[in-house]
Amino acid sequence: MKIDTLAIHSGFSGDKGSGASAVPICQTVSYAYKTAQELADVFDGKAPGYIYTRIANPTTTALELRLTELENGIGCIATSSGMAAIASVVMGLVRAGDEIIAATGIFGGTVSLFENTLGRFGVKTNLVEAGDTEQFAKAVNGKTKLIFIETIGNPRMDVPDIPAIARIAHQANMPLIVDNTVTTPFLIRPESFGADIIVHSTSKFINGHGSAIGGAVIDTGNYNWAEGLFEDIKELARKSRQLAFLAHLRNLIYRDLGGCPAPMNSFLMLQGLETLSGRMAKHCENAKKLALYLQNHPKVQWVNYPGLENSEFHGRIVELFDGRAGGLLTFGLGDKQSAFRFIDSVKLAKNMANLGDAKTLVIHPSSTIFHEFSVEQQKQMGVTDDIIRVSVGIEDFEDIKNDFEQAIKNSG
Ligand SMILES: *Cc1c(COP(=O)(O)O)cnc(C)c1O
Repeated sequence: MKIDTLAIHSGFSGDKGSGASAVPICQTVSYAYKTAQELADVFDGKAPGYIYTRIANPTTTALELRLTELENGIGCIATSSGMAAIASVVMGLVRAGDEIIAATGIFGGTVSLFENTLGRFGVKTNLVEAGDTEQFAKAVNGKTKLIFIETIGNPRMDVPDIPAIARIAHQANMPLIVDNTVTTPFLIRPESFGADIIVHSTSKFINGHGSAIGGAVIDTGNYNWAEGLFEDIKELARKSRQLAFLAHLRNLIYRDLGGCPAPMNSFLMLQGLETLSGRMAKHCENAKKLALYLQNHPKVQWVNYPGLENSEFHGRIVELFDGRAGGLLTFGLGDKQSAFRFIDSVKLAKNMANLGDAKTLVIHPSSTIFHEFSVEQQKQMGVTDDIIRVSVGIEDFEDIKNDFEQAIKNSG
């Protein structure tokens, strides 16, 4: 079945007991068994069953099954946030002394996790230009364990050549990890371009309503864990085969870090997912229209949206994303003062730090999300002091345009 259908129907086909057609919220910490032997068997993996919600929960299972199907994967672990998903994956693969390669211009929290937090544990991150495939190849050395990219970098909007980078990773027998938060499986299924593991912040377009924080890890089945670089997972692969990585996370890293979602939040993600296709189509349509409008506005100095024909990444948008470039764009009015005055003047758009909400959101990244990075680091991440990031919502386009029109007029 196609994405539009899977987003609504996969992972759950009605509650067996009550017939409830919406996924029931299993608001429980633990699960009772009649006999000591039954619970012992579940712990031993001899019988299937739930033990404790930090490890697994039926509402969350429904979300995991749906995300698995949407990403054409072999399994999924839902997490309490996008950061918990990324942290679990990377901590599940690297050890002190290892190195990772990541694209610049990606989510600031991810860069901070890699450089600051994982740096404290002796893991080194090599940042390379997302758009320049050669740099990925050059950065590989004997210590590199994985490559991490975003489908469309937030906020630099660079589009990496995913299939070429997958080939570079696979030549060195490494997994390619792709953050598909900004584009979702509606625009791209990275599995078909060679991605091995997909991560999401489901707080954004998957949820779509700005009502819950969440994340997910999906194994696409492309990486052969039995022949991989990771000794402990290799060992597990003898029993769990291709599910070895997810078993390694579920029974060790994810369990030990404690980044499980609340059952209520898994329900909210499932609820949001049902309208993913309709929302994404409108996000893409409105963002394209807004990018064209801004591009033709005399006061706007520049617009960065890979869906514009004059973007250096337009070719990749056509090739990998079917011509659709998502709901995120950035633009500049020349300086920080104008950016602040614009943000102070919008009436419909909200000044908020998230993205992927049904509502149109604007933010000045340099003084907010990236405030703790130096000017030099910000520059590398594509964050200039005049940049305004817009997460284009699904309101009527004329209303968004009129709001921007009056706010640009008031920006000086
Ligand atoms: C927001 C975001 C994250 C982090 O997700 P949280 O749910 O906020 O922890 C990771 N990657 C991208 C691309 C994001 O936009």
